[in-house]
Amino acid sequence: MRDNYLFHGVKGMRDVFPEESWKIRQLEEKARALFACYGFGEIRTPLVEHTILFERGVGQGTDIVNKEMFYVPAKEQDGEDDKRNRQMVLRPEATASVVRAYVEHEIAKVSPGCQRYYYIGSMFRYERPQRGRYRQFAQIGIEVLGATQPSMDAEVILLLHDLLAQYGLTSLTFQLNAVGCLICRPPYIRKLQEFARTLQTKLCPDCQIRIEKNPLRLFDCKQPECRKLISQAPVLPDFLCSDCRSHQKAVFQVLEKNNIRFEVEPRLMRGLDYYTRTVFEVISKDLGAQNAVAAGGRYDNLVADLDGPQTPAIGWSLGVERLMELLLDTVWEPTGLDALVVAPGPEFETTFVHVTDMRRQGLRIGMEHEARSVKALLKRADRLHARFALFVSAADPEKLEVKNMQSGEQVALTWDQLKTHISTFSQQKCIGAAKQ
Ligand SMILES: [Zn+2]
Ligand SMILES: [Zn+2]
Repeated sequence: MRDNYLFHGVKGMRDVFPEESWKIRQLEEKARALFACYGFGEIRTPLVEHTILFERGVGQGTDIVNKEMFYVPAKEQDGEDDKRNRQMVLRPEATASVVRAYVEHEIAKVSPGCQRYYYIGSMFRYERPQRGRYRQFAQIGIEVLGATQPSMDAEVILLLHDLLAQYGLTSLTFQLNAVGCLICRPPYIRKLQEFARTLQTKLCPDCQIRIEKNPLRLFDCKQPECRKLISQAPVLPDFLCSDCRSHQKAVFQVLEKNNIRFEVEPRLMRGLDYYTRTVFEVISKDLGAQNAVAAGGRYDNLVADLDGPQTPAIGWSLGVERLMELLLDTVWEPTGLDALVVAPGPEFETTFVHVTDMRRQGLRIGMEHEARSVKALLKRADRLHARFALFVSAADPEKLEVKNMQSGEQVALTWDQLKTHISTFSQQKCIGAAKQ
């Protein structure tokens, strides 16, 4: 056995081969197209950020910051002494990075008004690797900065709904809650603490710590006993101030007018500190305990907390790996080869010229450089999802036998006839094909 690290990927990381990556690309392309329809532009932030950004942006008491940070041991060469500032991590999520970029580049001043960003990329969390959970995973998400209106909450939820519908996912459940603001949340938290202290010894050790450090996270405990006890706790929606209450009402109204079905889940708190007012999750009853496919919410104080101007904001993110688990094979648009060619003898040279010509016209043509039997070629054409298999005549390389892989029908054609023949069957041309 090889014991050299060279021959092992890093634990919790995975490789993606073409058999899977073409599906991920389709997800991304559908998302990009829809984001453009909603007026969103792509933001690309670095994979590496200073640790302190997430300590302040995500929150000290969260699992992400306490247990799951993926540290990058790096030394900057600028002689800076502050060890803390030198500490860096691979980003565990994108919201704090987007806000950091917004503040750092003074977007509020440079380009006043509401900003709509989307991102697609890898995030990193140092979790214990489990089936279907990786330390590097992909997210598709959006952030809107500078909009306070409840109709914006509804719009981003609508966008998420429409995106999932494009993926063929129409039976997911949207759960919404209101988590209040700086005015109505503190008195509620005191009420929740009072309630939880009466249960103290009955709760799990984690929850006992949460009572004083992070009471809202009592709702996140997975222990059945804790869940049962906490289900009796007072809930935030009963304590909303009048502004938060009318905000929530307006969000629901717009969603209903646009025919979006949702459930109100008063115990939905989300794991992060920064949420205010609207929070939401999209869950699938098929995914088990860790069942949120997408989640998000409003974060009206985060920009100011990260030393930016007071800027209301809202966003969501979607886990690509978890999404893939839910998708049926029928959603994928076939992107296999238009044709696979075999020309094992002296006809290869002429064939190569024709293949190049067809590729330049945007057709997807696979070509075998080695001699193959008819049987082996057909097997391979099938595996590569080729629409046609082409056998070039050894006697006259201008002539070929063309087999339709689906119908089994076989015709004799010239290369010129072939182009028209394939085009009538070909639905999609290669992206980036040279313009004629
Ligand atoms: Zn409030
Ligand atoms: Zn617990």
